[in-house]
Amino acid sequence: MKARLPPMIAIAAIAAAPLLLSDYYIILMNYIGLASLVALGLVLLTGVAGLTSFGQAAFVGLGAYATAVVTTRYGWSPWLGLAVGMTLTATAALFLGFITLRLSDQYLPLGTIAWGISIYFAFGNLVFLGEHSGIPGIPPLSLFGWTIDTGWRLYLVIWLVVLLALLAARNLLDSRIGRAIRTLNGHARMAESFGVDTGRLKIIVFVYSALLASLAGWLYAHFLRYVSPSPFGINAGIDYLFMAVIGGSGHIWGAVAGASILTLMREWLKDILPHLLGRNGNYEIIVFGLLVVLLLHRTSSGLMPFLVRMLPGGRLLRPVAAAPLPQRPRLARGETLLAIDRVSKSFGAIGAVRELSFELKAGGIVGLIGPNGAGKSTVFNLATGLLPVTAGSIMFRGQRIERLGSREIAELGIARTFQHPNLLADRSALENAAIGAHLRGEAGLIAASLRLERAEEARLRDEAARQLERVGLGANLHDAAGSLPLGSQRILEIARALCADPLLLLLDEPAAGLRHLEKQALAALLRDLRDDGVSILLVEHDMNFLMGLADRVLVMEFGRLIADGPPHAVQSDPAVLEAYLGVAA
Ligand code: ADP
Ligand code: MG
Repeated sequence: MKARLPPMIAIAAIAAAPLLLSDYYIILMNYIGLASLVALGLVLLTGVAGLTSFGQAAFVGLGAYATAVVTTRYGWSPWLGLAVGMTLTATAALFLGFITLRLSDQYLPLGTIAWGISIYFAFGNLVFLGEHSGIPGIPPLSLFGWTIDTGWRLYLVIWLVVLLALLAARNLLDSRIGRAIRTLNGHARMAESFGVDTGRLKIIVFVYSALLASLAGWLYAHFLRYVSPSPFGINAGIDYLFMAVIGGSGHIWGAVAGASILTLMREWLKDILPHLLGRNGNYEIIVFGLLVVLLLHRTSSGLMPFLVRMLPGGRLLRPVAAAPLPQRPRLARGETLLAIDRVSKSFGAIGAVRELSFELKAGGIVGLIGPNGAGKSTVFNLATGLLPVTAGSIMFRGQRIERLGSREIAELGIARTFQHPNLLADRSALENAAIGAHLRGEAGLIAASLRLERAEEARLRDEAARQLERVGLGANLHDAAGSLPLGSQRILEIARALCADPLLLLLDEPAAGLRHLEKQALAALLRDLRDDGVSILLVEHDMNFLMGLADRVLVMEFGRLIADGPPHAVQSDPAVLEAYLGVAA
């Protein structure tokens, strides 16, 4: 496949490097490899999941110091040093992630800065860590009796680890968990309504990225054979972040690109500037800072998207038809599905929903209309657990759900679309739809990284492709969601909701922006879904559209229900006419 070409070239270049480069550049490449590992963690954490950490250097330090202490003080093997370092790092990251990520995303950068500074001072001030003079005499690694103590042997080990880490990260991003990680960047509410535990996932990604940093620290300690606090300070943490951002937020190879550019640029500046300026000094730091700002200014999402655009692209293939996923048993027509009882919702002084009561039976298509601001979308948010009710109760199939979170409600079989399409704009329609099927898979991060979940993944993708074909987007499977017309984005939202195999489908203005023929196709789809046992509640303004489609129409105004009946009766209801036209009939 063409998409494999750039990585293949990079891998070939990495393999050939020891034959071509001088010792100086081999050592530089080793530093680049180590930095790439740390930056890769940040590409996942910051670039993909949208969470910023300035403290990665501290995790590098933890990995380095852990192995330094146990190998020099206790004479343990470096492999035990790795285990100790990884355990310490995972514990620290879990703790830090738990106290900062749970609160709010903004606290993470602050928390990581505080953590980065305090661990740096701990390295420098603890006597048993050698204070500022550090720990010398760290033994080299050895593998099957092969001592890894020269530049090019280290080079091979470091870059093998980097390539494996890149491979694992690529696998991860190409999986169910990877899709869920992508939603963390600004789409957490949507993801929760499809069953993604975003709080837990943030911590998992944070720990994953910390472990990559720690692994780099372990390699670093056995490469330099000496650790001291200075490479693990907050400055280094900022450098790593720059590498991830400059290389390219969403691209795993961006980590290598960013690490290479920053490391080489700094080295060259360090050589060139004193000659140019005729005096010594840390001028490279000043020029370097300016260059970084310039680079960020030119390419807000990093260099990688820019590089990728110049190369021929590949695409996800439509999966080979897999055994379909199991479906929920359908309900008997007429069973009470949703019962909303005297529900109110206030936002401060605004009563968005007031004492609202209605019931939905299984097997119908019900329209929900009302002027803008009537509270229709709020009803959806209450029924899907995105907002807590102020008063009243909501039952789904006889079970109280008004205190449940959106994940639990999703599991019971309610799926929704959003009035303002809530899609990952630069991901394909197929990937977006597959997010809806999150709860129908179970493979976790490790299985995904090792690619052990391919059978399940194929079934999820196949389901996504099937639902896209069903809604009429079969020709757009591989198009970026954001490139579709707004009307199609709404239809894509329906496909994503259908991937959740819902019993009740809540559609918020699905027909807005559709042309006449597209509306007819949508109506046919909705009838087809109803015949298939899916109950539908849809917000819609176009009464003509609802006329031949809905069995019943609910009308809201100022948070209250003002009419409820078959479409033709509602259409001539004086209260409805007044609400819409402002005049009594
Ligand atoms: P509709 O979907 O019928 O147009 P909404 O349910 O979106 O109406 O909004 C009903 C009222 O509640 C509006 O006055 C709106 O401004 C207000 N509202 C909705 N969501 C929020 C929110 N999250 N915070 C504050 N006010 C809100
Ligand atoms: Mg609305």
